[in-house]
Amino acid sequence: MSNPKIIDGKLISGKVRDSLKPRIEQLAAQGIVPGLAVVLIGDDPASKVYVGMKARAFENMNLYSETFRLPAETDQKTVLNLIDSLNNDPKFHGILVQLPLPPHLDEMKVILAIDPAKDADGLHPVSLGKMVLEVDGPLPCTPNGIRMLLKYSDIDPGGKHVVVIGRSNIVGKPVANLLMQKRELGNATVTVCHSKTKDLPAIASQADILIAAIGRPEFVDHKYVKKGAVVIDVGVNRIDDPAAKRGYRLVGDVNFDDVKDIVAAITPVPGGVGPMTISMLIVNTVYLAENFASKK
Ligand code: NAP
Repeated sequence: MSNPKIIDGKLISGKVRDSLKPRIEQLAAQGIVPGLAVVLIGDDPASKVYVGMKARAFENMNLYSETFRLPAETDQKTVLNLIDSLNNDPKFHGILVQLPLPPHLDEMKVILAIDPAKDADGLHPVSLGKMVLEVDGPLPCTPNGIRMLLKYSDIDPGGKHVVVIGRSNIVGKPVANLLMQKRELGNATVTVCHSKTKDLPAIASQADILIAAIGRPEFVDHKYVKKGAVVIDVGVNRIDDPAAKRGYRLVGDVNFDDVKDIVAAITPVPGGVGPMTISMLIVNTVYLAENFASKK
């Protein structure tokens, strides 16, 4: 396995975005430009980078997006008032509140304030409930992006053993749920691991498809990976690198060099899951705009 297939998130992302063009044109014919409101609270450097990337992606597709920047000390009521006004603004078909929020804000109250009809992130409990019930609705962006990476790489999870390391609400739990569902790109047998799992390498190395969403730089090495496995690395970690222009570089949760000769296919970091998350945000915004158009 000395030449693993590199699952190219940028390339697949481009294909997903191209596939949206006819739908965007159809909306344009009805005078609708899909619009996204992004709410950024505070100065988290990674969040600022992500928000900038999202705005550029919308601009490149001639879609509308506007970022609402609030200082870190903004109180809960001000945030809720802003979301209320965005809920009622017809320019915006989707609303995204960039997480994490400053610690004094109640993340769940903020998410609950978003009108589910405008839930661009697919993280509102109504959207997650629809997801679990396999009812049509916006899907959480990173998990759905992982599904699309598999789809465009002709990797069917059906019947395979998927091991997910991580049980967060935004990645681990929803991706595990989606891949075990009866719908397309589901039907896997899924095991979910976390920090309390005993003998993680023994479980992870049984995976046909291993998904690492841990947040620990290069945690997964050859001890966790079966020969011929597909590895999806969700992690984005900054590590100090004096030789790099910015003084740091990005690495995943997987030690790429240590596993690349064992695996059948692997996502790089950067350029794997990351671009897909942004594409799925566009997918959701177009979907929400279509729902809006159908109710006009
Ligand atoms: P999170 O909320 O911090 O969750 C991390 C999960 O990893 C937790 O379930 C935790 O277990 C588990 N974990 C931590 N240490 C472990 C260990 N030693 N052994 C086994 N499990 C362990 O993180 P997240 O939001 O899911 O994000 C995970 C990573 O993905 C981060 O690097 C994040 O930056 C990245 N990410 C990337 C994208 C993208 O678009 N590329 C999107 C979202 C997140 P417990 O539950 O027991 O604590």
